[in-house]
Order: sequence, then C-alpha cells, then structure tokens
Amino acid sequence: MATFDVIVVGAGIVGAAIARETARAGLRTAVVEEKVPGSGITAAGMGHLVVMDDSPAQLALSTFSRGLWLQERDKLPASIEFEERGTLWVAADDEEMREVHTKRATYEKAGVASEVLDTKGVAEAEPNLRPGLAGGLRVPQDAVVYPPAAAAHFLSDAQHRGAKLVQGRAVAAGKGEVTLSNGTKVQAERIVLAAGSDISLLPQLPIQKRKGHLLITDRYPGFAHHQLVELGYLKSAHKLTDESVAFNIQPRQTGQMLIGSSRQFGKTDPASEPRILRLMLERAIEYMPKLAALSAIRAWTGFRASTEDKLPLIGPAEAITEDASLWLAAGFEGLGITNAPGAARLLVDQLLGHKSMLDVTPFLPARLAGSPAAKKEAHV
Ligand SMILES: Cc1cc2nc3c(=O)[nH]c(=O)nc-3n(C[C@H](O)[C@H](O)[C@H](O)COP(=O)(O)OP(=O)(O)OC[C@H]3O[C@@H](n4cnc5c(N)ncnc54)[C@H](O)[C@@H]3O)c2cc1C
Repeated sequence: MATFDVIVVGAGIVGAAIARETARAGLRTAVVEEKVPGSGITAAGMGHLVVMDDSPAQLALSTFSRGLWLQERDKLPASIEFEERGTLWVAADDEEMREVHTKRATYEKAGVASEVLDTKGVAEAEPNLRPGLAGGLRVPQDAVVYPPAAAAHFLSDAQHRGAKLVQGRAVAAGKGEVTLSNGTKVQAERIVLAAGSDISLLPQLPIQKRKGHLLITDRYPGFAHHQLVELGYLKSAHKLTDESVAFNIQPRQTGQMLIGSSRQFGKTDPASEPRILRLMLERAIEYMPKLAALSAIRAWTGFRASTEDKLPLIGPAEAITEDASLWLAAGFEGLGITNAPGAARLLVDQLLGHKSMLDVTPFLPARLAGSPAAKKEAHV
C-alpha cells in the first residue's frame, strides 16, 4: 500500500494547482484522477482570469490569484495561450454607468487598476459593439488562458517535483485512506478532495451543480479585443433560483470567439439546450449585432460547483465530516480557473500551519456545516 503526506483527489485546475504547491512545499503528494487531467469542469470553462468584486472575500481571493497568474505569466508554456487582454465591463445606460464608477472605486481600494470609458471610448476600444452604449470599465490586467492546458502544466510541474499521478476512480475517502474502484488503497495523513462538482465521495457537501452553456465560432481574428462582459453579469451570476443568460465574449488566440454564458440550477442532463443557446445568442447579438454573421462551430455545457454564499470551500472538512484527515478545495462556481493558484496557496498554508496572505475565514468549510444540504445528509 502506497503512503504519502497528502493525497489530492481530482486533477482539474484546482487539484493540479494544489498538488504543485504541496510538492513545492516538499510534501510527498499523490494525485488520484479518474479521467484525463483537466478534462472535467476545467475543460468546459471559459478561462477568463478576472477580478470579481461581488463580495469582499471574492475580491480578495480573485485579486490575490490574478496576481499569482501575472507573476508567472512569462514562464507559462505557449499551450496555455495566456493573453493579458483585459476585461471590458460594458454599461448599457446611465444606471449602469453609475455602477461603473462604484466598481472603479472598489477596484482602486483593492489596488486593481481600471479605467472608465465613455460612449466614444467604448466604441473605439471595441468597434463591433453596438453604437450608443453608455460606456464601460476597462480592467487591463485581467487575462485569458486555455484552462485544460493550464491544469496539465500545473500537474506536470507537480510531477517534476515528485508528485505521483494515480489513475483511477476513488470510491471511498476517509480516515487517511483512499480506495480506488479496482481495490487499490492509497494512504496519507491528509486527503484533499478537489473533485469539482462530483460530490459522490461526500454527498453531504453543500454544493449544487449549476449548468452553463458555451459556444465557439470559427476564426475571426480581430473581431473583438477584450473579454467583453455586460455589467448586468454579476446580477445574473447571483440569482440563485432562476436560469439566466448574460453577454460574455472572449476572443481566443486562435481568432475564435467564445460566447457565453448561461446559468441554470436543477439541471443534470449535460446536453446542450437549443432554447438556452438561442437566449444566449440573442443577448450577445443585442450587444454585438455583427455576431449574427459569424458561424458557430461547437456548443457544450459544464456544471459549475456552486455554494450558497458563492464562495469556495478551502480548508479542513472536519466540521462537515467529523474526519480530521479530510480537506476540501471545492465549490469554485464560475471562478475556479482564476482562483486555483490562490486557493492552492491558502490550502497549503493551512496544511502546514502557516499564516496566509489573506484571511481564510470566509472560505473555511465549517461556515456551511449547518447548511440544509450538509445537515440533511449528516442525519440520514
Ligand atoms: C460554462 C463555464 C464557464 C466558466 N468560465 C470560467 C471563467 O471564465 N473563469 C474562471 O475562473 N472559471 C470559469 N468557470 C469555472 C471553472 O471552470 C471551474 O471553477 C473550475 O474548472 C473547477 O475546477 P476543479 O478542479 O474544481 O474541477 P474539475 O475540473 O471538474 O476537476 C475535478 C476532477 O476530479 C476528478 N474526479 C472527480 N471525482 C473523482 C473521483 N471520485 N476519483 C477520481 N477523480 C475524480 C474529475 O475527473 C475531474 O478531473 C467556468 C465554468 C463553466 C461551467
């Protein structure tokens, strides 16, 4: 039986980033992954590295994490397609323009550079947006990556530092032991569950699946320059009950336009839904009428792992599981690509008993131990 200091279950971007940090810290690390590393939600995601200000904790984590991405940008392999495109938050009217100013002030306090654009500025920055928009906020250091390649890079870095990849499905995890479906057992003092939206190892996790659709076009280099997001995006990302769509376009290095985004609770079928794709496209065309002339070549879906307070679970799972060997790095919703490097630091600091650069309290799993999802299963 193989014994390690840490087993990470899941080699999506979060698990791979954690394995890299544990291996860096000199911990003997195993990564258990059932499929191709990075092929889960990570492969379905958009890869927008973005500072989000929907709560002070999210602002702190996404600013910290984006900073870590930027620190290593020159060392990232070309396959990751890292591009510092910047985000342009688009304001349709005067009310949204007021939000632009509030957002800029919030970013300034957090040390995040941004610039307010007026009607003319937005039209010059993105000539394919519809004319007459009120303005926008450009956040120049937000970036774009190709997520599965980023996960593969983090994992390969971890392996170079001695981490071992164990291929197989974990069917049980607890009390310092992970059991694979073929009966193999792997042991470690700490087990980190980074299994994305798959909660089968711990059904009491307070995580819900939130389905998202994306669609990619053929190649149209120069059609858009920034990651373009409507200011209403945060409102729609925060609606916990409804399905919602928002204008969100990402120009890829290949010249393709990646078009998002939708959010739906209560859906488990991964099939693309023509009705949702239509709503998404209608919204996108409202902002960029010329999109209607582009050909889309593929659509897909993915399931974000959502928590009730929209923050990830990073830390010991003991308050939920009564098992001191189990740790969590899950519930990253629509920000796991951005937040993986920062979350990995916060988790490994906790494993090592080090003080973190950020206050970890808002991310500790214990905060949701009393939530209805966690309680329901604990009492079954
Ligand atoms: C449509 C959409 C758009 C998005 N856009 C963005 C974006 O622009 N920016 C951003 O920051 N984030 C974005 N996200 C969110 C981001 O993709 C996720 O938060 C992130 O990929 C989660 O990574 P993960 O490692 O937690 O999960 P995953 O990538 O799902 O990794 C979990 C891994 O665990 C493995 N696994 C699970 N259970 C077991 C088991 N029992 N045994 C062995 N292996 C197991 C799986 O095979 C998988 O590889 C988006 C998500 C969606 C769906």
